[in-house]
Amino acid sequence: MALSGLEIYKLLPQTNCKDCDFPTCLAFAMKLAAKQVELKDCPHISDEAAEKLESASAPPIRLIKLHGEDGTVEVGNETVLYRHEKTFFHKPGLFLHVRDDEDLEALKAKVAEADAFSVDYVGIDLYLDGFAVEAVSGNAENFKKTVAAVIAGSKKPLILIAPEPDLAKAGLEATEGSRPLLYAANAENWEAMADIAKNADVPLVVHAENLDDMADLTKKLQDKGLEDLVLDPAAGGYLQSLHTFTTLRRLAVKSNFRPLGFPIISFPGAQDGADESLLTAQHIAKYGGFIVIENFEPAILYPLLVLRQNIYTDPQKPIQVKPGIYEINNPTDESPLLVTTNFSITYFAIANEVESAGWPGWLLVTDAEGMSVLTAWAAGKFDAERIAKDAKLFGAGEKVKHKKIILPGHVSVLSGELEEELPGWEVMVGPREAVDIGSYLKTVWQA
Ligand code: SF4
Repeated sequence: MALSGLEIYKLLPQTNCKDCDFPTCLAFAMKLAAKQVELKDCPHISDEAAEKLESASAPPIRLIKLHGEDGTVEVGNETVLYRHEKTFFHKPGLFLHVRDDEDLEALKAKVAEADAFSVDYVGIDLYLDGFAVEAVSGNAENFKKTVAAVIAGSKKPLILIAPEPDLAKAGLEATEGSRPLLYAANAENWEAMADIAKNADVPLVVHAENLDDMADLTKKLQDKGLEDLVLDPAAGGYLQSLHTFTTLRRLAVKSNFRPLGFPIISFPGAQDGADESLLTAQHIAKYGGFIVIENFEPAILYPLLVLRQNIYTDPQKPIQVKPGIYEINNPTDESPLLVTTNFSITYFAIANEVESAGWPGWLLVTDAEGMSVLTAWAAGKFDAERIAKDAKLFGAGEKVKHKKIILPGHVSVLSGELEEELPGWEVMVGPREAVDIGSYLKTVWQA
């Protein structure tokens, strides 16, 4: 739990020496609490106080990083229970489960298809994060061969599911140069798994049937020098996983209970009686870290990735596209020029309508700080001056020779001012709703 300014002040020397460029220790403490200065800016702090302050300022859920030959997954570092309190920082990684007893050619084909899956969602590339390879055969060489086959087909990060230390070692030998997640240490094998994870410098999953045993195991592993841990609380089904995952998040962020301050791994497809897609959605929302899915179905994966994207965006920062002039359907200098703001959803709504109507066109996207048309207009971020400035900046005059620009219908009030800002241009008023753009272009633009 973060310390308040007064709690920090009590740990400072309280001499008001000003060496930190603040007039008093209290002023420095307040800035430190707001994370606007660093602890090292006070050269007089005792080692004991520094240790207390550093541990108090560490995130309640440790950040775990995996990387493949190409691509990384970072999970953890969360500080709140609910997104509206601040934001969620690192979206859970979605991994496809494959096994070393599958036919190798079929496995390669599955990996290739899943690896290539990618969809464009309001300008954001959505894709699967990696693969979880399980040693089911019990044969170390076979497991190593399977891991190598997955790596040959995908550069994404991996999770190695190996129930025995010798299988874990074999899997890690095949992943040299990357940083997979190793699954899992339990009450029986934890010492051997800890040595393997430490030697390979990879994060390790801790599996336990209840949270008391889990906390005991994480403490033992930390005593052996392992810091990067992931929790598998073995919670199945909708209710049990919701309860257990929420308890873990509460203990970490509200009680700052360090032994359980790690991301959670879950296996929603392995639960009897549960629909994998529904349980995956639940784990995305609350509070999965690494989520291993059994089935690769693009029609199901796409909405799950969209759900994840929407939960893991900062509610205070709208999704934006880069300002500029965008081409739709290979426009010419005769094609219409429309204008809108750089709020992603607004941009894609208009671009999709023009594109699906089969019209070639130009779309001038102005910098409205990511707001939609009416919101930006009301906030003074989408006015004639800004539109004219961006039209000139992005060379609208060179793109079209007709010198006509189509304003969104909701801001028709700007048309007079815009004509003054863009002498020689005709300002047309388009429809209020994106869905009417096709018929507007057909009936008004073409007429
Ligand atoms: S340098 Fe340290 S002791 Fe001096 S005023 Fe700043 S916080 Fe206080």
